Amino acid sequence: MEYVILDLEWDNVYFPPAKRFVNQILQIGAVRLDSDFQLVDTFEATVRSAVSKKVSERFSKLTGITSEKMLSGIPLNEAVEGYNRFSEGAEVAMTWSNTDLYTIVDNQKTLLKGKTEFAFNKYLDLQKLVQGEMLLRGHDTKNQISLEGAAVLFGIDTLNFELHTALDDSLLCAELLRICYNKEHFDALLRDTKAPDFYARLRFKAYPISDIRDKNIDKESLKFSCPDCGGKAERLAKWKYRNRWFSAPFKCKECGFKFSGRVSFKKTFDSLEVKRRTVEFKKRKSNNELQSLPETVQHQ
Ligand SMILES: [Zn+2]
Repeated sequence: MEYVILDLEWDNVYFPPAKRFVNQILQIGAVRLDSDFQLVDTFEATVRSAVSKKVSERFSKLTGITSEKMLSGIPLNEAVEGYNRFSEGAEVAMTWSNTDLYTIVDNQKTLLKGKTEFAFNKYLDLQKLVQGEMLLRGHDTKNQISLEGAAVLFGIDTLNFELHTALDDSLLCAELLRICYNKEHFDALLRDTKAPDFYARLRFKAYPISDIRDKNIDKESLKFSCPDCGGKAERLAKWKYRNRWFSAPFKCKECGFKFSGRVSFKKTFDSLEVKRRTVEFKKRKSNNELQSLPETVQHQ
């Protein structure tokens, strides 16, 4: 089994046919690795923009790719075809975070007009693999770590790499892969790009549901029982939505206890995450304050 790690450098440019800015790919770098993750071959192509004659100052400073270098490059479709020849037969393609995939999909649609596409079989997000290893070693992974940050953390000397050039970033990724490889994690993170929902899943962003009539909401999750006696409670007023939570006043049919029933919904690609809690109405001293009862969380 062989592997490819791919890295892109792109510049944000206004693309008139789409009437919006596009992150146009201006450099493709890749390394090909054997089954032991040892380097077999490297690939790098600088792309000549079909949209602009200049690169942005920010891009040039970051990547070292000047307007002159960009203009001496090859057309994007040729660069992609070159990458496809280079990676042919490799079973897994990897990038550092799936951001590159969004750019690839968008470039294929806009700049390449669907005529040329990157050829992938299986895909793996290397950032996720590295963050899994960080977690095992007791590091905080709440925030996504940068490639450079990960390199420093795992003791790789970044002075040996020209960071933010596509080929060197790929080489650095390969170093991290050798350090962080863990068969169980690796296999669990493999994705089949040929699966019909691969790109749909990629584009999907989880969102909170703000309409109580949303068809994803199961009516059962809007029913509450009394936190005091467990009896059935009835809703006394309409649902209100604030800060991602729906709330409504409830009254127990058995004991008359009044409370606020609260529920929050987050739609993910495959499921709906539901959080529920009840809050007691209680008079404290002279002012009305809400006192929280223990929170219940459930997933469905
Ligand atoms: Zn009750």
